[in-house]
Amino acid sequence: MTHRHTALLAGAFALLATLPASAAGLTVVAAENFYGDLARQVGGKAVAVTSILSNPDQDPHLFEADPSTARALKSAKVVVRNGVDYDPWMEKLLAADPSPGRAEIVAADLMGRKAGDNPHLWYDPRTMEAVAGAMAERFAAADPAAKAEFKSNAAAFDASLKPLDAKIAAMKAKYAGTPVTASEPVFGLMAELIGLDVHNKAFQLAVMNNTEPSASDVAAFEDDLKNHRVKVMIYNAQADDQAVKRLVALAKDSKIPIVGVSETEPAGKTYQAWMFAQLDALDSALSGKAS
Ligand SMILES: [Zn+2]
Repeated sequence: MTHRHTALLAGAFALLATLPASAAGLTVVAAENFYGDLARQVGGKAVAVTSILSNPDQDPHLFEADPSTARALKSAKVVVRNGVDYDPWMEKLLAADPSPGRAEIVAADLMGRKAGDNPHLWYDPRTMEAVAGAMAERFAAADPAAKAEFKSNAAAFDASLKPLDAKIAAMKAKYAGTPVTASEPVFGLMAELIGLDVHNKAFQLAVMNNTEPSASDVAAFEDDLKNHRVKVMIYNAQADDQAVKRLVALAKDSKIPIVGVSETEPAGKTYQAWMFAQLDALDSALSGKAS
């Protein structure tokens, strides 16, 4: 057997391994793993979920699909994706292989977001609530016997966001208007909910789009750090950018606390725990308790 065939077989077994014992047939493919986590929380045992973007060491903005992604989509009954140009590869794959029996949930469409908006929609818990509701509906259409279970799971998910919402409200009361800076807009929607005054947005967009930030944008960022015009620097721990690395070093030298955030959900964490831990780290940094 050639190496190529071995690899193909291994891929097939990997996919089979994700099917539940009952093989209920409600196969869900999520473009991003936080939506995959949500599909598991709403679908429970009735769904078999495959998440495509799940590596916290890879820049999702640079992701390119390989044949295993197209194979995973073959049996999908429901596909969940973010939209707003975050996962154009998924759009292309779906267009290339139309299937009338496949439902699609697009987070951006549910939230009325358009191309050019901040694409990191899951940093607003309301996005997850909307996607959970859409999942309960789509899953029920595919598996009507489990309709009540999907509905109650989605309601339980909504209720589980309460501590997160309370944390956001408490931080807003303490920190609204506080100036901070960030390497990328990944945390942007959450920063808006807290009411933070986020500096250097042009720099952040350039880094997100993997283009060179302008000299004046870099200089403005450096000035903010050197002159302590910001309380904290939030950086995308998942992207590997030289300009950002230099600014992280400058923040450390300037004794500005840095807080790492990620685009992709870390293994072994739920969406709720992941978001809460990041808010906790930011809270500590803003209150001056962080190392
Ligand atoms: Zn991003």
